[in-house]
Amino acid sequence: MTIARANMSTIAEDLYVWLPPKRGWGLANCGLLASPRTAAWIDTPYDPSLAGEFLTESRKRLGDGVSVDRVIVTHANGDHLWGAGVLPDAEVISTREALEHIHYEPTPKQQHALVAGSDPASPLGWYLARHFGLFDWSDTEPVQPTLMFQGELELRVGDHPVHVIGLPPAHTGGDLIVHLPRQKAVFSGDVIFSSTAAFPGDHPVHWAGPLQNVIDACARVLETGAEIVIPGHGPVLDRGGVRAHIAHLEHVRQRAHALHAAGVPALEAARRVIAERRHPELGLPERLVITIGSEYRHLDGTEQAGVLEVMSQVASVAWELEQSMIPGRRTRAGGGEPLPA
Ligand SMILES: [Zn+2]
Repeated sequence: MTIARANMSTIAEDLYVWLPPKRGWGLANCGLLASPRTAAWIDTPYDPSLAGEFLTESRKRLGDGVSVDRVIVTHANGDHLWGAGVLPDAEVISTREALEHIHYEPTPKQQHALVAGSDPASPLGWYLARHFGLFDWSDTEPVQPTLMFQGELELRVGDHPVHVIGLPPAHTGGDLIVHLPRQKAVFSGDVIFSSTAAFPGDHPVHWAGPLQNVIDACARVLETGAEIVIPGHGPVLDRGGVRAHIAHLEHVRQRAHALHAAGVPALEAARRVIAERRHPELGLPERLVITIGSEYRHLDGTEQAGVLEVMSQVASVAWELEQSMIPGRRTRAGGGEPLPA
């Protein structure tokens, strides 16, 4: 995949973050914790090409003979996991619950075939090509965690303590956060999608929920006392940034509950919240379909739909939004244009 080169920067003692230069599906932040004897990644890029780029940058920051021996995976979305193949000897650490999400998502090769094989004239094919078409998983094997835990895990990377904290279902089932007390830093994974004026981000997307668990996970990040928070996507935050994100999530939760109480179906509720345009600076508003759909599932006690069905709805709403931006067309706010068959 070709994106502008990611930015690798030092944020604390022996701690580096690799920040993709733009927002969008699949462009996740990754961390490198170094020591004189060993090193660890927190999350991997989405495909082997990006992971190779991160590995090259990592090696420049490690002493001779020091390798990345561990990958701590904040959750099992491919954009945090599927690059681990570039480190075939590394221990891959996840929660036990993350396995379930690995089985919910397509394998890398299945996803590659789906993106390449979908009809680009359909909303789903158009959406997949647009947002996932630049990645290459044609030769990517699934990644299996080699160390799974429940609850919490204490590790050391050289002299650096690493506190790995499993969470109740939030962004996915099986999320964890990584607290580095010496660096006063936390990698939150996708319980936080950040945005600042200088680097606007995307709408959060939450597959598991309920949103109260995501809010509680953000509070757990603050409870560690960390002053540097590296979200799964978007710029690095301070504590105030985390509190602002909690307020954002609380608003989405409140709107979902109000619309549910008013008897509005989930998909229509997502359309309405999108049309309210409370955060016009954020990309991918169609992801509210997933987040609000997850919240409704908890309110209704229903099962999660398959990932393809969910993404088809997301693509349809994105298509509606795209059509509504074509000048001269009569549209109603937030979409509602008829879709192609
Ligand atoms: Zn992600």
